[in-house]
This record gives sequence, C-alpha cells and structure tokens, in this order.
Amino acid sequence: STSPYADRPWLALYRDGQPTDVEPEFANLLDMVEDAVRRVPDQDAIRYFDGRISLAELDAAANALAAALQHRGFAVGDRLALFSQNHPSYVIGMLAAWKAGGVAVSVNPMYKQRELGHLLRDSGARALLCLDEVHAVAAEVLADSGHGVDIVITSSGRDFQTRNDPRVLPDREMTPLPHAVALLSLLTDHAHQEPVHVPAARPDDPAFLVYTSGTTGDPKGACLTHANLVLNARNYREWMELSSHDAILAIAPLFHITGLVGHGVLSLLLPAPLVLGHRFHPEVMVELVREHRPTFTVGAITAFTAMVGLPGVGPDDFASLTKVYSGGAPVAPTVADEVEAVLGSYVHNAYGLTETASITHLVPPHRRAPVDPDSGALSIGVPIPSVRARIVDASDQELPPGQVGELLIAGPQVAGGYWGRPDATATAFPHGELRTGDVGFMDADGWFYLVDRLKDMIIASGYKVWPREVEDVLYGHPAVREAAVVGVPDDYRGETVHAFVSLRPGAVATETELVAYCRERMAAYKYPRAIGFVDELPKTASGKILRRALRRGGGT
Ligand code: AMP
Repeated sequence: STSPYADRPWLALYRDGQPTDVEPEFANLLDMVEDAVRRVPDQDAIRYFDGRISLAELDAAANALAAALQHRGFAVGDRLALFSQNHPSYVIGMLAAWKAGGVAVSVNPMYKQRELGHLLRDSGARALLCLDEVHAVAAEVLADSGHGVDIVITSSGRDFQTRNDPRVLPDREMTPLPHAVALLSLLTDHAHQEPVHVPAARPDDPAFLVYTSGTTGDPKGACLTHANLVLNARNYREWMELSSHDAILAIAPLFHITGLVGHGVLSLLLPAPLVLGHRFHPEVMVELVREHRPTFTVGAITAFTAMVGLPGVGPDDFASLTKVYSGGAPVAPTVADEVEAVLGSYVHNAYGLTETASITHLVPPHRRAPVDPDSGALSIGVPIPSVRARIVDASDQELPPGQVGELLIAGPQVAGGYWGRPDATATAFPHGELRTGDVGFMDADGWFYLVDRLKDMIIASGYKVWPREVEDVLYGHPAVREAAVVGVPDDYRGETVHAFVSLRPGAVATETELVAYCRERMAAYKYPRAIGFVDELPKTASGKILRRALRRGGGT
C-alpha cells in the first residue's frame, strides 16, 4: 500500500490525517499540578454543590494534609487508601499522598468488610481516608489487626459545601470511627505548612493503585505510574479537543479508572473545573449541568440513559454538554441514538481498561462510529496515535483486518503490572504488551469492534463483576454444593448477575436466603439478582463448569 499509515490505518482518522504522537510534557503529576497552580491560582479546581475550591486552595489543602501525614509517620513509598465517593477529599488525598512521596489507592465506597479488608492487606496501606458514610464498614475492618493501617482520617459529605441534599448525602447518624482524626481539623492544624521535602517522583514511579480483577477474577492493584497518568490525561486533552475553557462533569466514580483519569487528573492538567456530585443520582446530575454548565463528560452509557430517561428533560437542559464520551461498557447502537436524541449531542464511544490508565481507543471528535453489519456491534473507535493495538489468534500471530481474535495493547499508558504480583503481571503483560481478554477485529479503515470476551467478566450498569468472586462467597454458604454465576442480558443494566447452585444432599436454602447472604458480603452491584436451583451444573469432561451453557440455556 502507498498509504503513509500502512501499519496504523487509524491514524488517517485523526485530525484529517495529521496525527502527532504525544510526548508527555511533565515528568510527574506534581509538576503538572504545580504548573496549573502557578498559571491560574484563582481558577476553580473543584465545584462541589455550592462549594468552590480554587487551585491555590486545593494545593494548600494538599500541602497541609501531606505535612499532617508525614507528622504521623507516613513515609516515602507508603500507601494512602481513599475510601470515598466523588468528594473533594478524594482529590486532596491523592495530591497529599504524592506530595508526601507516597502512592494513592482507590477504594470503591460500595465495598463491604470482606472487600475492603482484602484491599487494605493487599496494598499494604499505611493510611486510610474515608467518608463518614462508610465508617461502619471501615470500623469493623480496622478492628481486625491483620492490616497495617495506623493513620485514619475522616471526612464528611458536608465538608467543603453547605447544601444538604438528602438525595445524595445519607441523612443519618454516622458510626464514630475510633482513633480517627477529621480532615478539616488536620487542615486547620497544619494550615500554611509545606510537607518535608521528598525526592521528586520519576516518571516510572507508582502513583496510584487501582483495583481490578483483570482477566482472571482475582482482585489486584493495577500499578499506574506518574507517566501513565500524565500521558493518558494528555491523550484526553489532545484527542478529545479539550482545554482550560472546558468544565468537567464527573458522572463516573473517581475510584474507577475512567473517573480518576477522565475527571480527576484531566481537570488538573487542563486545568478546568471539576464538577463533583458525590454519588451518581440522575436528577442531581442534570441539576449540576444546569447550574455549572459543564462542557465535557465521560462515563458508562447507563449513566446517560438514566439522565435522559428523566421525565421532561431535553436538549435544552444539556445545552452546555457538547463533548460527550461513553466508556467502560458496550453500547448498543439503538441506545446511543436514543441518548443522542434527548442529550442533543453525539455520544462518542471510548474504550480502555484499568491496566491502560483508561482510554486506548476512541471515536475522534467530528466522527461517528460505524456499526459492523454482521455482529451489529458499534465500533469502540480507533486507537490513540501512541497506542499499538493488534488482534491476534490463539498462537499470538497478528491477524489481518476483518479477522476476529484477542486485542493486545502496548503503549506508554500501559501499566507496569500488578502490585506485588509478579506471576499475574507476567501472564497479563507478556513483554509489556497487555492481553485485554477482549475479542474483536479491526476493519480496513482502522476501526475496532468487540464481539466477545475471553474473560468471564460481567458488566452490570458499567460495573465489573467477576463470577468467581461471587461464586467463592456462595461456596461459603453451608447448604451450597456447587455454584456458577453468569451475566444475562438486561435492557437497562446491559447485563445482570444470575447464579445457579446445586445444594448439598439434604440441605435446604431458599433463593431469598442465598441472595441476602451474598448481599451482606459484597458491594451492591455484585450480588446475584436471581438464583436458579439445579441438581447438577453442566461441566466439561474434565469437570470444569460450563458457564457459557448456563448463560445460553439455564441450568438444566
Ligand atoms: P475496567 O478495567 O473496569 O475499565 O474494565 C475494562 C473492560 O471494560 C474492557 O476490557 C472491556 O471488556 C470493557 N469495556 C471498556 N470500554 C468498553 C467499550 N467502549 N465497549 C465495550 N466494552 C468496554
């Protein structure tokens, strides 16, 4: 071929065929933040309901918290876990961790004791910052001595704002957390203090551990470096055409990679105001759009369907929101059209993983994703110029356009591996290239499509659920002999979690009882919504449970 992009045909789809690979402009995240604070100190960094925090105020708060952490023994390389909703203390906490030379760790605020305990032990977190609404879970985990957390800081949904919205803020007495200190009192005690000098982070130093089950179902911390995060925030800015004139609506949770990079880090790079709404509530989000006029957002398609499904909303309500991206979950073409009709803006599909610091593929601005006529799949877009994406067969041979295989990704935003897991790292990142576990193909123009998954992951309302984790909990119930968990198609959630169990001889358990058992032990999006009872689960000759057969035809 005479095309200048013979090996990467998708490059022609960027900016009318004038792509430039993007070099990182900052060595680490703190240099990036310092640059923003120096240029526009008075600009809003965060808007949280009626509270506003300027870049200079955010920086001062992060300095104070970093000094407070150091005062309590937090050292270079230590981990600070953030157990929080989309709240200013999340951003203050991550900056403080870096300023003290440490690593931030994100924790899903929906986690129950079992999940939080695992994460704290696995990450070896030294410090925990948590919102008052999750105290009950934290208190129980902290009472167990099998973890090394010795600094506990708490914040409240009412900190940094004065409005009390019962739709998103729990309106109840909070369990006190023993030995915890309130963030606001630390900020007062250490006001105007700078942290003790620590060596500047190098590009490849870890900045964030983001927990994911990857392709295997075993939760582990994807270790994202300063370079990974700076570079991929820059990819958002360059390839989605964003600038400091934008404002970001945070519809994705900050604990997930989409929210961390596409809201949090991006807002500090541009810099642009970050509009936080605590937790996702469709009505509240629409009110925040009317009030703060954000221009950009990225999140799971179900968040958009929830907002546009509200009675009486239309394009006028969303007029400011013109740069809209959906990521993290498959998008049905009909749903994309329905959302566009009410939103008034085209929803660009975007693809990425925790292990790639969010986006690797996107539908570039001013383009619309093609639909594959055979599978009906909406394209996930084209790779970002610096990404090397290939489709391979079972023996890792690269396949030509149109042929279906596993998607492998290499590039500067790919994480170095999983925290403390050399074996899992070697399996998922052979030679530094990530095996995504997603199955698809590339067409002749360079558009990518996903048609299947090698991994057993379920995506329910954008949240990832791994059958094995739910099955392990079910196996803990005394009446359960065998369990298999599958995702079944669901119009609203995309997929929904179902379980099939066979009981021990003579044992009795009802569906209600088993659902309640799971519900107590896992975040709300994970527990099975229905349980089917079968005498025997379908298996291969070697005894492996055939989840695929269950997904298709039920248990018998
Ligand atoms: P996570 O690490 O939670 O971000 O999950 C990454 C996984 O989400 C990918 O491996 C895909 O299976 C799925 N995913 C992400 N973006 C998309 C998309 N645009 N379309 C379909 N699946 C997606």
